[in-house]
Amino acid sequence: MGQRSGHQERSKNLELAASETMKAESKVQNNKDEAEEPKAKDQRLTLVFGVADLKNGAIGLYNIGQSCCLNSLLQVFLMNIHFTGILRRITVPPCARHKSRNVPYQMLLLLEEMQCGKQKAVSPIALARCLSVHRVKLFVQHDAAQLFLTVWNLIKKQMKKPELVEELSNLYTICVQEHLACQKCSLETKRNSSMLTLPLPVLDSNSHRLKTLEDCLQYFFSPEELTHHNMCFCEQCGRRTPFLQSMKLVRLPQTLTIHLKRFCFEKSANVQKLSHYLPFPQDLDFNAVLTENQCEADSDEKAGWKYELFAVVAHSGSSSCGHYCAYIRSLTEHKWYCFNDSEVCQVLWDDVKCTYGHSNLHWGETAYLLVYMKKRPQ
Ligand code: ZN
Repeated sequence: MGQRSGHQERSKNLELAASETMKAESKVQNNKDEAEEPKAKDQRLTLVFGVADLKNGAIGLYNIGQSCCLNSLLQVFLMNIHFTGILRRITVPPCARHKSRNVPYQMLLLLEEMQCGKQKAVSPIALARCLSVHRVKLFVQHDAAQLFLTVWNLIKKQMKKPELVEELSNLYTICVQEHLACQKCSLETKRNSSMLTLPLPVLDSNSHRLKTLEDCLQYFFSPEELTHHNMCFCEQCGRRTPFLQSMKLVRLPQTLTIHLKRFCFEKSANVQKLSHYLPFPQDLDFNAVLTENQCEADSDEKAGWKYELFAVVAHSGSSSCGHYCAYIRSLTEHKWYCFNDSEVCQVLWDDVKCTYGHSNLHWGETAYLLVYMKKRPQ
């Protein structure tokens, strides 16, 4: 019985795969009809290559001057087959001027160059110039969390098809519910909001180091008392009162990005980097980390809260001067790679663990962004 249904399941999957390809091909056909003067290259760009993320092996990106941050993020985007599946279906801009200014289109060109070329590395200069048109500066060191938000928002804004915008949002967006409760009366307000990353503090309110990623998550979703100068105005009490503020998890996306807040803005003007040891797991089950009270989700949603680590964007150096690289686990090969600008090499999980951090190594590499991928349902 089990075997038979297994066979049925497989053939159903094959049918699905075939119909997906047909759908994609008909979309390519539609694109061809829509475009004024479809060029062979544009058609080839939107063709379906299957789900290979490393068609010609892992390809590096040349550093064009302080572009290690951009390069690392691009590798994380382009190795994500869920993202490239959306990217391949964009509408090709009508003219050269629009093409040069369109971030998703330039990403698609870069992806094609990486997957079709035989070079060890390719240059992201056209995409970097395109971003600079949208006020993303060239030749300066960016903050990876900030640049990720900026690039993602540009991609979303410039994807013309509403269904792709929705898919992109669903792929990356985390939904939470913020609760505020007056501690003097019964007033309680709830507000739903969405975010692109979970910005996790690595220190608690007493500036003590949190010990693991799970501790950081637990702390982030713990209620906080707003007292003294943090009190809020209560409409029911008619004055400023202490409040209890809490955040509940509503929805987690397929691609979950966690931002470890290692850059600390103290009262002084200097930004401090917190390099201490903070381990994170390869497998992360949110149901095992958060309590019932910290969630506002049904059992179907919660059943999907099992994740495995897909990428680590690591930073080495100080807050003012440093370097980024990305460790990414191929979703099709299940092997880890280190993408360090034009240099790419296969690595082991033990190498990735070196980004846990170390208090005595201020130049050492530390994980800054963690990207987890939802596991397939069992
Ligand atoms: Zn009140």
